[in-house]
Amino acid sequence: MAPNVTSTTTLFLAEAAVCPPSTLATLRRPSSATMPSMTPVAKTVLSPVTPTATATAAAATTVTAGAQPARPAPEPYAWKIVWRNVLAFVYLHYAALRGLFLFFTGGIMFPTYMWSILLLTLSSQGITAGAHRLWAHRAYKAKLPLRIFLMLCQTLAFQNHIYEWVRDHRVHHKFTDTDADPHNASRGFFFSHMGWLMVRKHPDVRRKGAGVDMSDLDQDSVVMFQKKTFVVLMPMIAFLLPAYIPYKMWGESFWGAFYVSSMLRYVISLHGTWLVNSAAHIWGMRPIDKEISPTENYFVAHVAFGEGWHNYHHVFPWDYKAAELGNYYGNLTTAMLDFMAWIGQAYDLKTVSKEMVERRAARTGDGTHSSVSGHDHHQNQHNHHHHHHHGDEVWGWGDKDMPQEDVLGATIIKKSD
Ligand SMILES: [Zn+2]
Ligand SMILES: [Zn+2]
Repeated sequence: MAPNVTSTTTLFLAEAAVCPPSTLATLRRPSSATMPSMTPVAKTVLSPVTPTATATAAAATTVTAGAQPARPAPEPYAWKIVWRNVLAFVYLHYAALRGLFLFFTGGIMFPTYMWSILLLTLSSQGITAGAHRLWAHRAYKAKLPLRIFLMLCQTLAFQNHIYEWVRDHRVHHKFTDTDADPHNASRGFFFSHMGWLMVRKHPDVRRKGAGVDMSDLDQDSVVMFQKKTFVVLMPMIAFLLPAYIPYKMWGESFWGAFYVSSMLRYVISLHGTWLVNSAAHIWGMRPIDKEISPTENYFVAHVAFGEGWHNYHHVFPWDYKAAELGNYYGNLTTAMLDFMAWIGQAYDLKTVSKEMVERRAARTGDGTHSSVSGHDHHQNQHNHHHHHHHGDEVWGWGDKDMPQEDVLGATIIKKSD
């Protein structure tokens, strides 16, 4: 798999690398001592379990549940905190608070306000339209100029380089809420929000992640260029230029621009993205598939430029709209992509017909879909239970596990040749 997991060139966000299995045994200690701020749910999940006890428990389950196959005893996962990341996050939030103070007390010039908002929008597009819908899910194709533009926007957002972002995200879609999911939401809000970036990854993330196809990115020259030059490109684009340009162009104080346009803008966009992994996996309706944790979350959809229609998105990750809505409500990224298609930069945009969505909602939804009658809605609300099924999840267009029904039924806009 990706050789950069433990590579020295990856920057701090990537440092939450895989813990060597040999060290796991020595790491068993009460989770409360290592992470006092964790939720009770997380503590339960992480409390050390002896293999014998687990095996007995598994056997007992087999007996009572009848046909239920015994699952192998889970490997203990003790968190090894990456202190460098923790310190980096403390500093980032301190700097963002200074920026917030300047922002609200008139400590910066008017053009710097506009500049910060522009950068926030561009960096969000780098993540949503670029890393997410184009590269991770292959929901559409993009010509070279658009790919370069999105790569630069994604560098501005600094959420690791595209290659690493995509691998984490495909693994998340493939193994949602299992140990192999880098931001497993069953470990609680804090872990799935940002805690996962402060500890070493569970060994399953690498083990199972190795099977996820990345060959399309290996062949993308823009992605590989960014990966090779990231150590230089990222600090320049994400932090130096956002402060230097206001300083040079309209005489803003360098540090004022640094705290607002670099730090505050960065921290806001990080939390916007993280809410998709945390809140949109915990709170909201599940109209398309009630068996999976992702939800339709209006709040997240708005702060994450259209990425909060997350129950739908996990069922149809290859839809370029990342939502079933026919309009741009809470989905600025779709508007941008339609514009890019109109000027010929985006093509082969995959989406799902109304009938296909309704069929799926009727089969697996929780009854809250608009196509389902009020009666069913009520009935389903009562037996609202969530257990997760795995195996039929896909990471996007081109996944070998994609059902033929979806491949043939997809609607393709601006089809090439
Ligand atoms: Zn998700
Ligand atoms: Zn996704």
